[in-house]
Amino acid sequence: MHEKCGVVGVSLEDRDAARPLYYSLYALQHRGQESAGIVTHDGFQQHSHVEMGLVGDAFQQGDLEDLNGSQGIGHVRYPTAGSVNASCAQPFSVSFKSGSLGLSHNGNLVNADEVGDQLADLGHAFTSDGDTEVIAHDLARNLLEEDLVRAVKRTMSRIHGSYSLTIMHDDTVLGVRDPEGNRPLCIGELEDGYVLASESAAIDTLDGELIRDVRPGELVVLHADGTGYDTYQLVQPENTAHCFFEHVYFARPDSVIDDELVYEVRRDLGRALWDESGIDSDVVMPVPDSGRAFASGYAEAANEDDDADGVEFAEGLMKNRYVGRTFIMPTQDERERAVRLKLNPIKSTVEGKTVTLIDDSIVRGTTSNQLVQLLYDAGAEEVHVRIGAPPIVAPCYMGIDMASREELIAADQSVADIRDEIGADSLAYLSIDSVAGALSKSKADLCLGCVTGEYPYDIDGEAKDREVDRPAIGTAASADD
Ligand code: SF4
Repeated sequence: MHEKCGVVGVSLEDRDAARPLYYSLYALQHRGQESAGIVTHDGFQQHSHVEMGLVGDAFQQGDLEDLNGSQGIGHVRYPTAGSVNASCAQPFSVSFKSGSLGLSHNGNLVNADEVGDQLADLGHAFTSDGDTEVIAHDLARNLLEEDLVRAVKRTMSRIHGSYSLTIMHDDTVLGVRDPEGNRPLCIGELEDGYVLASESAAIDTLDGELIRDVRPGELVVLHADGTGYDTYQLVQPENTAHCFFEHVYFARPDSVIDDELVYEVRRDLGRALWDESGIDSDVVMPVPDSGRAFASGYAEAANEDDDADGVEFAEGLMKNRYVGRTFIMPTQDERERAVRLKLNPIKSTVEGKTVTLIDDSIVRGTTSNQLVQLLYDAGAEEVHVRIGAPPIVAPCYMGIDMASREELIAADQSVADIRDEIGADSLAYLSIDSVAGALSKSKADLCLGCVTGEYPYDIDGEAKDREVDRPAIGTAASADD
């Protein structure tokens, strides 16, 4: 599974924005590794540098020096909609009659084709097949007729799906979160300005203070002189649809999302896992690094439980950090061996022991099967697997690169079948109710599409979990609608 993107925007009083944006993109690198980019504005014109590759490779010293201006936006991308090439790398820039626009998008529209087709009929020429360009053109068109706030509102009334955006209109930086708040976006204060970012870890990196999350349906406009910001609640949602997987898997553990520290949520999920399906064993160990916080919460709850025997928390699997995404695995057989390159058990921690292995998810099941086998090979007597999220039964259409239904092991198999397939002595997942409890949210305010098969958006061929319809495109909506 891969997160699609990370976005950032800054407006400073009297200092170039390029370097703070660059540091922020480093802090958000886990959200996208295919391309990185920054667009700034110096009050007269836009400057842009967008490259394929990691942040550290995409920018050289001279590139940052050429990005003049105290306002700017940035983006890291892992593509799920649009091609894997430079034309879809972001921020996306467009110049039009009344100025310049830059756009960074995290999420995925489910009606981009409809809006794009209508704009193409109206004469807009697209240079990519990405949904971000559709938003940029729609906004550019609306800005010909409306002021900034009303233009954003009109675009929001036409696009349907998941989006957290940082936008630059000339030298004004904006942040927008979709009415369901599916992907995160927060605002922070710096000594000499303000910052919008996908995760608060980026604000920490700049020595800033997290102010709060941008609210679902809210537009935040940073003052171009870096001294403040205005906010507009453009859409008042009845219910939100926060992606629970941000907390379980994607976000950095040191980020605060929707008022919850991700690390603590993961520990609480681990504690709930013990309450629901704890099993006495000699050792509890995480799959590194994804299972660590869950396993620590699980072990803590186990050791507080008077009815349990107590358990040792141990790092029994060591990770080779130098096996990266570029590792070449030409055959399926070699792909299946890859786990042995990435993880190695510490034999003395495992040998002759009953082991509980904790992770955050099982997608295809291949890795889990190999990990269980590794532990048996290292001498484990029993291997029990506990997963800090419900089974993934359906794909994601909101910007997470997840497997298709055919590839998802839980799409058509019971927990008992999966246990047999991965070769564990026992297997348990966390319930949806416990996930909602750990996030302190009602299930009605979460997106649970990938674990229920019912979505909070109107997606072709899929069931909905609420009364929701995509907007009718082609009936020119007005900002007052
Ligand atoms: S379907 Fe799953 S991964 Fe996608 S947004 Fe919803 S909860 Fe997140």
